[in-house]
Amino acid sequence: MISRRRFIKGVVGTAAAFVTHSAAAVTPPPPNIIFILADDIGYGDVGWYGAQKVKTPNIDRIGREGIKFTDAHSTASVCTPTRYSIMTGEYAWRNPDGDHILSGVDPCAIDPAKPTIASVMKQAHYVTGLVGKWHLGLGTKENPVDYNSEISLGPADLGFDYCFYYPATNDRVPCVYIENRRVVGLDPADPIRVSYGDKVGDDPTGADHPEMLKMKADPSHSKTIVNGISRIGYMSGGKSARWVDEDMADTLTTKAVQFIEQNRREPFFLYFSPHDIHEPMAPNPRFKGTSECGARGDAIHELDWCVGQILDAVDRFARNTIVIFTSDNGGAIKNTYDDGTNSLHALQPPNGPLRGDKGGLYEGGHRVPFLARFHAPVEKWNKSSQLIGLVDLMATCAAVPGHKLPDNAGPDSFNALPALEGNDTPVRDHLVLQQNGHARLAIRQAQWKYIEPAKQQKNAAAAAVPGELYDLSNDLAESKNVAAENPDLVARMAGLLEQARSGPRTRP
Ligand code: CA
Repeated sequence: MISRRRFIKGVVGTAAAFVTHSAAAVTPPPPNIIFILADDIGYGDVGWYGAQKVKTPNIDRIGREGIKFTDAHSTASVCTPTRYSIMTGEYAWRNPDGDHILSGVDPCAIDPAKPTIASVMKQAHYVTGLVGKWHLGLGTKENPVDYNSEISLGPADLGFDYCFYYPATNDRVPCVYIENRRVVGLDPADPIRVSYGDKVGDDPTGADHPEMLKMKADPSHSKTIVNGISRIGYMSGGKSARWVDEDMADTLTTKAVQFIEQNRREPFFLYFSPHDIHEPMAPNPRFKGTSECGARGDAIHELDWCVGQILDAVDRFARNTIVIFTSDNGGAIKNTYDDGTNSLHALQPPNGPLRGDKGGLYEGGHRVPFLARFHAPVEKWNKSSQLIGLVDLMATCAAVPGHKLPDNAGPDSFNALPALEGNDTPVRDHLVLQQNGHARLAIRQAQWKYIEPAKQQKNAAAAAVPGELYDLSNDLAESKNVAAENPDLVARMAGLLEQARSGPRTRP
């Protein structure tokens, strides 16, 4: 374990050198922050966490030169609610607009009156950028998003100085990029129409034209075909603006590297959210066949390449930078596209030794890789078993320049910076976890994990259905539910969960 003093010395080393050689004694600039949020990367998908059949040397480098967390959690086991909690520092289950997976036409889940991680970092004099996946809705209920005009409400209204993003997921329409407030490359003579209900336009669908597909899909993913891949939802128009899946990693990474280079003289905060490895897994041909795990492994290799490009840009332009790598939820085990990878999971379980997967409340749904690196390499491999959640990102980033979090910001966000610096003081007492929607929650405290009964069971005799309780200190795989023999502990955990749920915040 490195000492806090040594770690901080590494962080501000560049800045300190600047002060030494400068005529005026100025406060050293705070480190930049690059937060890399991979999509659907599981606890077993990264070499530094034990993966053997895929190689992730660049992601591993963050851990090798920084710190590896073994008990970090996406606050939900699906995209939107985790991303909501990252942006707002608030548990997503507090907000019915942001607690579930959103479509490409749903309104923005974030109340513009609320501070976001971007607006907080702007207050702290950072330049803020977003590159990659958004998936938090656009427009408002009163003024739904129109992809042919200026887009508001979106990330450009929520504290980001620069954004280059795609609206929802790579399996959902519309399959276009947005730069700041406008769809990139849109021909006004070919306007975009989007529907998640009735079909719009004449584009072929996967259901009607399976012969046109690169990979077949289940019925929900068999609507409009874009780039030979059928999607969730219908779209027409916008032909010149449509993305090519195989080029997404190059496009997004190029934009992220440009942001780093252009803002290298400012403290900057970059939220970089690659599309990998969310399905459809269609990596660039140069990654095809490079892994032993089919398209899924090849997509992990593509993601690792993206991370390598970011680290290379940091080395070239912005050495005083904190780089964090993590995932928005656990690995998916059953892909809905028939890309041949489902049968390969046994080669390398996406979530390692954990039970469950994306979408569930078992550890495989939300315990994720979390690596953080400051510029200066540490002498030996460093690891933390601190319990942290991605909802903690806001308070953690604000603490980097010593910015006081406003009282109305991040109601559930705790400062994990000391833990990133190798300090053993607990970050938080407990952490609430959710799946898609807020019907059922789980809570962690110390080694105990309590999963409340499903809703339909709540009205049954409480004693007969006490929910689930696991002792993760000796049962990380959640194989033995010990709720029945620990009624007092179950009552305490259920009470703690109820306290978190009924109050407005958990941060003091
Ligand atoms: Ca995800």
